[in-house]
Amino acid sequence: MRAVVIGAGIVGLTSGLALRRAGVDVVIYEQAPEIRAAGAGLGLWANALAVFDELGIGAQVRAIGKPSEMYFHDPAGRLLATPEFGPEDHQFLLVHRAKLNDLLADAVGRENIRLATGFGQYQEHSDHVTVRLTDGSEDDADVLVGADGVYSTVRGQLVPGSPAQEHPGHHAWRAVIANPRITLSEDRLILGAHGCRGGYVRTYDGGVYWLVNQFNSPELTGSVKQQALDRAAHLDQGKRNRVLTELIAATPEEMILQNKIMLAPSLPHWVSARVVLAGDAAHAMSPHITAGATLGIEDAALLGRLLTPTSDVPAALAAYEADRIPRYAHVAELSAAVEHAPTAQQFAQHYAAFSHWMITTATAISGTRQVRA
Ligand SMILES: Cc1cc2nc3c(=O)[nH]c(=O)nc-3n(C[C@H](O)[C@H](O)[C@H](O)COP(=O)(O)OP(=O)(O)OC[C@H]3O[C@@H](n4cnc5c(N)ncnc54)[C@H](O)[C@@H]3O)c2cc1C
Repeated sequence: MRAVVIGAGIVGLTSGLALRRAGVDVVIYEQAPEIRAAGAGLGLWANALAVFDELGIGAQVRAIGKPSEMYFHDPAGRLLATPEFGPEDHQFLLVHRAKLNDLLADAVGRENIRLATGFGQYQEHSDHVTVRLTDGSEDDADVLVGADGVYSTVRGQLVPGSPAQEHPGHHAWRAVIANPRITLSEDRLILGAHGCRGGYVRTYDGGVYWLVNQFNSPELTGSVKQQALDRAAHLDQGKRNRVLTELIAATPEEMILQNKIMLAPSLPHWVSARVVLAGDAAHAMSPHITAGATLGIEDAALLGRLLTPTSDVPAALAAYEADRIPRYAHVAELSAAVEHAPTAQQFAQHYAAFSHWMITTATAISGTRQVRA
């Protein structure tokens, strides 16, 4: 069994690793000249960590992460309590994206990754799929995994007319500061006025990841730093907690990543007989639930369980789709409940309901219901 994976982001790399662990021969094609990760910090939930444990890299991932908790506060500093959920529903691990992708690339084996080689198109045959690459070469495989992100070219061919869509008015600002001069005794996530959310989470190596998001943002004006500071002002009622503002002010303008949020449209199918989508290519969603990568890691785990050297590929992909599409339909419902929550308290409650559901209903590579990590 041979698999071609398109995209060496977190999901393509995890898919490559899961398939290799299952005994499948894998090559990953990545259009960029190096393994890199757009973004700064990344929160991984227990279901993602359980996958990494099963793939034998759990300890290494935890070594580049810092345990944190997703508890929200209001701008006056009050905790938005969710007593109906347990502490385990709030726990996540904050990792540095680039370090995680490097670790995954090493685990996959760099000799199995072809950089600076983009996907062009595929041609499906009854017993294999031919992949045409941007350098003019072709590669044959039993299965093609499209893990090429929200702007997926594989998706464009598998589901014509499915371009990425803007989440209207939703923007994010974020950065990791390696050596903050500000002393932080805790992490803090705040739900504020005007659709703003944000906060700061410490990294395992003494740095800090700060982020600010806004739904229904007015037109962006001024420098990127000023845009982030303007949103942070909605998260600090009465100027009681200046930490987020100070962190943003201390961040060099060029280190601040600002992006509008793009989504994958809801798709009628994720697979054909020999082509399958995973990660953001299939389900890029709004990051207000901070779980897109975590859920993409689940996709990778399931591919590793279903695609073995003796698998019937069309049957395996049909089983994958039968598992994934209903799960993501439910994710979309829970995510919308968080997004449209009328109050911050209800946002926090819907959020905890989502993370509780996601963690407790995830299935491990072995096919058993996951235990909490
Ligand atoms: C602001 C923000 C915060 C977030 N925070 C979290 C969080 O805390 N926790 C969480 O779980 N998720 C989070 N997410 C979601 C998470 O970032 C994504 O779900 C995840 O990165 C998707 O990974 P991926 O591998 O599917 O796609 P990508 O990371 O986009 O990787 C796709 C790869 O494919 C390559 N590629 C594209 N086209 C081609 C081609 N034609 N040929 C070859 N290669 C190609 C790209 O270069 C790239 O390397 C957040 C998202 C945002 C926007």
